[in-house]
Amino acid sequence: MEIAEWEKRYSKAVSNVKGQLGDVRGVFVAYNSNVDAMKHIREEEIQKLIAILGCENIHERIAQYPRDINDPVDLMARLIIAMRDGKAAEVPTYNTDIHEWLMDNLVFDSARMGGQAGIISNLLANLGISNVISYVPWLSQEQSEYFVDSPNLKHPVMENDKLVLKHPKKAYDPQQKPKINWIIEFSRGMRVNCAGEQYEVPRDNRLIVSSRPEWIRIDMSPNMYDHLSDIREGIDGAILAGYQMIKEEYGNGTTYRHYVDRAVNVIEKLKGCNPLMRIHVEFTSIQNKVIRKAILTDIVKKHVTSLGLDTVEVANALNVLGYEELAYSVIEKDENSIVSLYEGAVRLLKELELQRVHIHSLGYYICVVSKDHPLDVDAHRQALLFSSALAATQASIGEVKSFDDMSIGLKVPVYSQGHNDLIELEKYLVRRGICTAQDFEDGCISVDGHNLIIIPSKVVKEPVATVGIGDAISAGAFVALLAKMPKINICNIEE
Ligand code: ADP
Repeated sequence: MEIAEWEKRYSKAVSNVKGQLGDVRGVFVAYNSNVDAMKHIREEEIQKLIAILGCENIHERIAQYPRDINDPVDLMARLIIAMRDGKAAEVPTYNTDIHEWLMDNLVFDSARMGGQAGIISNLLANLGISNVISYVPWLSQEQSEYFVDSPNLKHPVMENDKLVLKHPKKAYDPQQKPKINWIIEFSRGMRVNCAGEQYEVPRDNRLIVSSRPEWIRIDMSPNMYDHLSDIREGIDGAILAGYQMIKEEYGNGTTYRHYVDRAVNVIEKLKGCNPLMRIHVEFTSIQNKVIRKAILTDIVKKHVTSLGLDTVEVANALNVLGYEELAYSVIEKDENSIVSLYEGAVRLLKELELQRVHIHSLGYYICVVSKDHPLDVDAHRQALLFSSALAATQASIGEVKSFDDMSIGLKVPVYSQGHNDLIELEKYLVRRGICTAQDFEDGCISVDGHNLIIIPSKVVKEPVATVGIGDAISAGAFVALLAKMPKINICNIEE
């Protein structure tokens, strides 16, 4: 299909979803939110930090590839790696020393809502979705101030043995300390000199220094857990993210198994007896392979219906599931990588017993859906188109404040490079007789055992911010689908 035709489909999808979003009864969103300290770093600031720490030290540490940040040299090593490769990275730190060092030596430009669940909660509230129930296990006063002032945004709290929903600003724990992450963004073309080597940043991207204090738990109080069924009838689905915070071991001897089991129990409690309850997990980069695998095979598999991820995360997921070659091929930047991406999506769908896998890449989205999903392929395509226009809106203005802002994203053109990249996948599918060129161009393909939906996406040339665009894509597509789902109320039967 020509790009002009896709543009028409975009407009139609957005106006269609606009008319339907009011049908979403509510969405539960958990777990991770934090305050993001944003810093757009400049060349001279990098050189200043390198000079403070010493180039040789940093160079040695780059070779060791630190998996977490224990001191400023680890930080600079991971920052230079991210800049050299033009790749996004998220690296954990377990104490507040780095925050203090950065405050002393760099200082942030601005602060805003961060964390997948926090970003998604604000976005859905601003889009006007009724009953956005956002749950953060570590809701501090400072954190609560970053939630938008909207009456449809609520946080559960236990009061007199009852679960009540209040705006986060009225629901925080006054004793709770804030969780502050640093987002260090860098621009294409910046140069870094270190130990005789010079790198030029190939692409705009960022390093996230993710604060993981000892008190972080992906959990809820037993009391709140017992009352979770009280909110079930007010929601059609849940978006869950932040499982990457689970640690292998805790100081008190508890292991990740405990929190994985609790996470599964929460999902089952939310689903109750409603077979149509949709559960979406937004994946992210998780360095620890034990945790990455446990999330996929113990939390996602069998319990979750929908998974959202980017291409690197697809490779990481395939890797721990035993598909190393396919994982490698996904990240190899050659003409086969899009075919491997599609094959990887199918593997994830089957292996994790999902109904939907949504992969977002710069320029196109690939979504595979099981044949038993309650909605047809056209509904799925509309959801993807809506999500791409939403992402383009967010990339253009930073924060989507209301549905009306969507007109900004709609004006962003479909990325012709993404449209071209899809040709390799088309050739592969047509050559194997899996579909005709016409089916492919139309974006919906029925394959044995699943449906494939592909769209070229809209890409903003000079985005004002890049953080959270993936979250917006996944959440946007998910709520568009929720709006289209049949509504039934069978959950008053106690399990
Ligand atoms: P995050 O974790 O910050 O949400 P992800 O890597 O999960 O980031 O997702 C980033 C996605 O955002 C990409 O896969 C791409 O689809 C989309 N994206 C990135 N830059 C732009 C842009 N300039 N315009 C539109 N979409 C973009």
